[in-house]
Amino acid sequence: MKMKKKILYLFSDTGGGHRSAASAIIKAVDARANQEMIDVFAEGSGFLNIFAKLYAPVIKYSPQMWGMLYYLLDDEKKLEQLEKISRPFILSTLAKIIKTKKPDAIVSVHPLVNHLTVQAIKDSGLKIPFIVVITDPVTLHRAWITPNVDCCVVATEDAKKLAISYGMPEKKIKVIGMPIHPKFAKGPSDKEKRRKKDGLDPKTFTILMMGGGEGAGGMDEIINKIDRSGISAQMIIITGRNKKLEEKLNAEAGKMKRKMKVYGFTDKVDELMSESDLIITKAGPGTIAEALAMNLPIILTSWLPGQEEGNVKFVEDAKVGFVAREPEKVVEIIKRLQNPAELNAVLRNVKKTRKPNAAIDIADCILKYL
Ligand code: UDP
Repeated sequence: MKMKKKILYLFSDTGGGHRSAASAIIKAVDARANQEMIDVFAEGSGFLNIFAKLYAPVIKYSPQMWGMLYYLLDDEKKLEQLEKISRPFILSTLAKIIKTKKPDAIVSVHPLVNHLTVQAIKDSGLKIPFIVVITDPVTLHRAWITPNVDCCVVATEDAKKLAISYGMPEKKIKVIGMPIHPKFAKGPSDKEKRRKKDGLDPKTFTILMMGGGEGAGGMDEIINKIDRSGISAQMIIITGRNKKLEEKLNAEAGKMKRKMKVYGFTDKVDELMSESDLIITKAGPGTIAEALAMNLPIILTSWLPGQEEGNVKFVEDAKVGFVAREPEKVVEIIKRLQNPAELNAVLRNVKKTRKPNAAIDIADCILKYL
């Protein structure tokens, strides 16, 4: 019997996006290869993992600071300096991983390790194909760009243009889409049955609200505004890893004028999207791509400066949703989307924009390198 080939995925547990992207591709490749995920920072050094761990509190309490850091590092010279600092930690980790695991291909879904991975593969003397899957769908950070990878997968034509302008050879770029878990590929199903099972009214307009893996984006103020608005709707809230918010909202749920179901970090985002009529979220690339796959109009209430600004433009340009920073505006847009004519106009655009099969297509692309 032929031995199965091995694919390693490099990621970091910041937010939910990198892990979700790697898991989505792994699921799509499925039994066609042996696969393993490596959290490069956690594996590498306590020192670098401190920075990875800072992502959650920084985006929750000071997104502006994240924006400053993002723009500061969006510069070739600064990135070189950062690489010099991290080189001793990451390069030796990568060398050890390659030596012990002997992968047949390496896939990175993280911007900060790609130059060093190319170096580590070269140092190993092995011929290992290296594929980078960029998980910023529009405005990608320069850090992603490593010209001497074998293939660079992007989500949109805009991302391709930007990658080329940053020095990525055009022939290495494949425009496929955001890798979302194949469970989203089927689209929504059994809306009313699912609502009933989860203790909601089967026929009531349902609003889903989430703030990425960390439950960021100031959800409680918007929830209160919606509750007091007189809109006829029930709510599903996903607080992700934000335990404090989960507890607070659970305590408030009983006092609300409408049904509200609160979930902490859940692996049934697809099912909860299936139950919903629209989503209110921060502009996380994973959440946006998943919402589109599940035919949900999107209301964006927050985004990380720099990193997620392009996603806002993407949603607005494709007319698949709206931007509403103030709770009053959120309420106004929900009312508009409760009008079937307005809702259907947005849904037509959603159908044109969604790429539910992206992870499956990315998996096929990776397998060609084995
Ligand atoms: N997610 C999840 N369970 C949760 C909250 C979030 O599986 O309770 C997933 C979500 O479906 C998406 C990812 O986490 O795939 C969030 O990624 P995104 O790019 O939207 O934002 P990030 O968390 O990386 O800032």
